[in-house]
Amino acid sequence: MDRILNYLSILPAGYLWLIFFVENVLITAGVLIIGSMFHKGPYTKSAWRMCAITNVINTVVTYAGCWLWQHHIIHITTNNSWKIIPDFWLLFFEMDLLMFLFHIAIHKTFLYKAVHQLHHEAIDPTPIDLFVLHPVETIGFGCLWLLVLIPYTFNIYAIALYLVVNVIFGLIGHLGVEPLPLGERSFFKYFGTSTFHHNHHQDIHHNFGFYTSIWDRIFGTYK
Ligand SMILES: [Zn+2]
Ligand SMILES: [Zn+2]
Repeated sequence: MDRILNYLSILPAGYLWLIFFVENVLITAGVLIIGSMFHKGPYTKSAWRMCAITNVINTVVTYAGCWLWQHHIIHITTNNSWKIIPDFWLLFFEMDLLMFLFHIAIHKTFLYKAVHQLHHEAIDPTPIDLFVLHPVETIGFGCLWLLVLIPYTFNIYAIALYLVVNVIFGLIGHLGVEPLPLGERSFFKYFGTSTFHHNHHQDIHHNFGFYTSIWDRIFGTYK
């Protein structure tokens, strides 16, 4: 990992842009290919357009993160140590809470009509809707992510694991079907399942969480 980071630190900016763009496109392709097992049928032109714009913005966010790291504003450790596990859970719950608050804020203010309503045009979300976001929303989530990385030195493997888990939850939330057993006693009901986020698209006053239903349960918006 140290060798990869050393290489990234000396690579010309143009190559970094290209690498980060390809990385984001591959993540999107992975989501859409896995999603195609559950959702058949073509996506609209406007969905593809917004998906492309989201990929470009996510590339800018990735580059910004790398730039902040190169300029010693974001610090990361590369030790393959026990710190991976607590760092992962810290990222998981910290981002879950901050994104929950951000999500409520864009629902309860003028930002809903101006920004977030675009994502809610999908009443029955499909995998591509994970990327059908207003540019302001994508930038907002990106800034939140970079701000979380600044004050604390996270382990690089925890960050990588968190980013994978983040994409998996995003895909699950917009799958359109529920692959998990969700009974009364199910352990999964405390997580942001497909049903949980699908219900948010059907009823915009509930289920603002992403990875867990904990914050909605605490704030009384769980359904
Ligand atoms: Zn959604
Ligand atoms: Zn929403």
